[in-house]
Amino acid sequence: MKIVILSRGPKLYSTRRLVEAGIERGHDARVINPLRCYMNISSSRPTIHYRGEELDEFDAVIPRIGASVTFYGTAVLRQFEMMGVYPLNESVAISRSRDKLRSLQLLARKGVGLPVTSFAHSPDDTEDLIKLVEGAPLVIKLLEGTQGKGVVLAETRKAGESVIDAFRGLNAHFLVQEFIKEAGGADLRCLVVGGKVVATMMRQAKDGEFRSNLHRGGTAKLIRITPTERSTAVQAAAIMGLNVAGVDILRSNHGPVVMEVNSSPGLEGIEAATGKDIAGQIIEFIEKNARQGKTRTRGSG
Ligand code: ADP
Ligand code: MG
Repeated sequence: MKIVILSRGPKLYSTRRLVEAGIERGHDARVINPLRCYMNISSSRPTIHYRGEELDEFDAVIPRIGASVTFYGTAVLRQFEMMGVYPLNESVAISRSRDKLRSLQLLARKGVGLPVTSFAHSPDDTEDLIKLVEGAPLVIKLLEGTQGKGVVLAETRKAGESVIDAFRGLNAHFLVQEFIKEAGGADLRCLVVGGKVVATMMRQAKDGEFRSNLHRGGTAKLIRITPTERSTAVQAAAIMGLNVAGVDILRSNHGPVVMEVNSSPGLEGIEAATGKDIAGQIIEFIEKNARQGKTRTRGSG
């Protein structure tokens, strides 16, 4: 098969591993910067071009689209979908998962456990917004942050109000969330591939930090998850419509709660913690599922 990996970082661990795994399994794997792709959006023959060359020979596309380029990156992916190229994760599913509010609403609708979360527009409602999550300590999150950036812990109600005012002053959209203190700065990363949890790790925040992101100095270790945690992760990925997802779960007093579902989960931490060939499993999934035109939405929705 001919596989294209949409990534701006050919040297990044995850990108390199996907290329390696593709080649190891006898495929052609090529990394292409989505920002250098341009498109001809015609109804009869949609095309994608890259540095003067037409890209028309691919069977499958693996999106590794950074959060800062979601808009353009998903547009390029959608164009591949229109051409019938099989996407590992579909553009609509990626857009859905990148919006924390939209994701939580979709998960809530299906009864998935979530931290108590509130959302408002008007500054007049700040006091009640904080009451809805049972007061301080509370977590305030920008809707489109990643790698722990834009996630703030307010220890007191006053601190919470100041942060909310500051975010509002910047015209930023944010969520207010109960702080799951009992998680002790740890969360579970469950890697789902094709409806199965194929690897799990526990990430622990460094001392004095509540965010467990590896980018924020968190450390990863092996962990066994419970059957409920496993089914929660699988369900969350399915609701988002993602074939490959990193589902982040906190162990709360009211059971497992999903914090977010990542559509381009990093492979470095989880392969190191588990010793598993996750990139190989992803390529294997593509081998079993990629068919010309087998895109559920075909670039719509
Ligand atoms: P990002 O997209 O930036 O990774 P997350 O929502 O995943 O944002 O939050 C980053 C980290 O902060 C999580 O991995 C977790 O360790 C911690 N965290 C986030 N929300 C909560 C919460 N409600 N209670 C406790 N810890 C939280
Ligand atoms: Mg996260």
